[in-house]
Amino acid sequence: MRRRFIGGNWKMNGSKELVGEMLGKFEKGMKEGVDVVLGLPSVYIHYGCGMTTIPISAQDISSEQKGSFTGEVSAEMVKDVGATWAIVGHSERRTLFGETDAVVNKKVHQGLSAGLGLIVCVGETLEEKEAGETIATIRRQLAAGLAGVAGKTDQPFVVAYEPVWAIGTGRVAGADDVQNMHSFIRAWIRENMSEKTGDETRIIYGGSVNAANCSALGAGKDVDGFLVGGASMSEEFVKIIL
Ligand code: PEP
Repeated sequence: MRRRFIGGNWKMNGSKELVGEMLGKFEKGMKEGVDVVLGLPSVYIHYGCGMTTIPISAQDISSEQKGSFTGEVSAEMVKDVGATWAIVGHSERRTLFGETDAVVNKKVHQGLSAGLGLIVCVGETLEEKEAGETIATIRRQLAAGLAGVAGKTDQPFVVAYEPVWAIGTGRVAGADDVQNMHSFIRAWIRENMSEKTGDETRIIYGGSVNAANCSALGAGKDVDGFLVGGASMSEEFVKIIL
């Protein structure tokens, strides 16, 4: 039985004050049997970790281990200040910062080496969807992003299916489409990694999830939770956890 997994992603939003306020509220809203992980901006990770038992995630990590990479933050550094998870391959990194599948794969391996749990994001753009390339895109992102991972680690990783056209747009994928895509991703993991990994890996949906639509979106048997952007910055997040 897979435990539900609800991730929050604050992106480049928030403040020290909001981190303090919201973590206090989220702590009170925790539910037995649900894993909740909050992705804070890297400068707030240490602060957040000091005030909560909720696992904190980095929103990104460097593809390099250490050295002359001005502005980068390594997997080991976020681990050092208390993060236990990292989001890797978020579509905003891919589309706005030119992150390729190969770079995502390097980040995955950096995260695993540092002992972080990983939320590996995949998802098609609107152009890919309209061109009928959704499955091919997801297959390519899984194959490249998770290359070399099979059999290498027992660390938990979560796959977040996040159609790019649904992120921050208010446009949500249909619940049946989400279930079908999650079923495809699980079958891919079973076939290309191991049956056990496929059965155990949590596959979560992201893209304009809110308190009103989460029950319908989460109904599919392969939908193990959500990655939530906008709605994770307010008390609405607690209603999604429930
Ligand atoms: C995200 O940032 O991963 C996300 C899904 O954002 P939103 O919920 O705001 O669409």
